[in-house]
Amino acid sequence: MRLAAGLAAVLAFALQARAENLSERLARRLDKAVRDSSQRTESEFRELLASGLHPGSPLAAIRKSITWDSCREGVEFLASDALLGRDTGSDGHRAAAEWAAKRFESFGLKPVGDDGGWFQNWKWARRKTMNVVALLEGETDEVVVVGAHLDHVGHGDPGIFSGRIPNPLAGEDRIYNGADDNASGSDALVHIAQALAALGKKPRRGVLFILFSGEEKGLLGSSHYLANPIVPLEKTVAMLNFDMVGRNKDRECAVLGAQCSPELGRAVLRANRGIGMKLEVPTDSTPTIFMQSDQFTFYQKRIPCLFFTTGGHTEYHTALDHADRINVGKIEDIAELGALLALGVAEDRQRPTWLPISGLGPKLGVTPQPLAGAQLQALGLKENEGGVRLASLMDNFPAKNAGLQVGDIVIAFDGKPLPRENTLEAFRKAITKVKAGGSQEVTVIRNTKRLTVTVQYEK
Ligand SMILES: [Zn+2]
Repeated sequence: MRLAAGLAAVLAFALQARAENLSERLARRLDKAVRDSSQRTESEFRELLASGLHPGSPLAAIRKSITWDSCREGVEFLASDALLGRDTGSDGHRAAAEWAAKRFESFGLKPVGDDGGWFQNWKWARRKTMNVVALLEGETDEVVVVGAHLDHVGHGDPGIFSGRIPNPLAGEDRIYNGADDNASGSDALVHIAQALAALGKKPRRGVLFILFSGEEKGLLGSSHYLANPIVPLEKTVAMLNFDMVGRNKDRECAVLGAQCSPELGRAVLRANRGIGMKLEVPTDSTPTIFMQSDQFTFYQKRIPCLFFTTGGHTEYHTALDHADRINVGKIEDIAELGALLALGVAEDRQRPTWLPISGLGPKLGVTPQPLAGAQLQALGLKENEGGVRLASLMDNFPAKNAGLQVGDIVIAFDGKPLPRENTLEAFRKAITKVKAGGSQEVTVIRNTKRLTVTVQYEK
């Protein structure tokens, strides 16, 4: 998952305050080993039970394809030191991409990348990188996208620009293995692909698997894909994203985005009847972490989407996000759930709908970025006046429709200046205050000139 600005410093501070001695670490490893073995027995038992209860069902077939051993192997390889944290454009990331391509090939999927290969190539900071793309063909030309980001933040010293958070317990370890973030989701995706390919039957719609690069640099791989889609976006009926799915309480998982697509929300609950995870599927609100992974770029293109995540932890973006902390049985469960859901959406006659999520920011359709005091001073603002830079604008949303541009600095709503303190909060309040169908005067500074535009909100 992409690091939210400012979070690194807070986490680093919290971690400094946390102490742990060696015997506690050993005890935890021992405890982990014991839990692993019980998990494994439980998962094998559930597999047997499911296939016995539902012989010949897709659930039984999926359960048979996805095994605990194979899930463990995948996450351990992707999070191994040899891959050096899979930084975008690095050899380690490429090795991970090649591994995934080999797996997709062995499942009999169709390579749909550049020149008929498995990679959709693109560049980040002059370094070559790639999204890995594989298609399970369907009966029609529509697809369901299953996504996960394969990149992480690499190796070296911690730093706010690298996305690496220091952890005093890491000692000399400088490899950010990213076992949970996001070897876990990538591993789940590969197993979903394996299970659906093994069904040996074309679903109504195809399933397009994409392992994005550049997620940690700002959702770049999914943005690249959406600017260069392999299947036209109007033929893309849904997107299911898996990012950080191997930690926290056993069998618990959040599924975010049901507010944007009630049908997908219901579909995941239906699919879960056979799996029995404890899902949290909020339908009347959406936490802002929804904006921090690749489903958000699909959401911005009005594609119904869901975000599977088991949430944050103190090893997040530190050198301690290791494979031995991963709950392998959880990846297995989530992969089974994901496979069943992807199949359900691919087979459903109805396409899921897309609705805007209120209160997430996209009401206006912008990504606001706070500015430092010195920058505000340079713009000629008064001591108590604040400003917010527009870092991106969404197509077909009020801000862009009104002619606002990336780089514009919003300083006032309806003539009322934004305050210097808590600027972002005031910005959000000003937007949410407007009723559906209403309008608002927005004053911005563009290239040192002030201008005011009228923003018209949707009914
Ligand atoms: Zn991350």
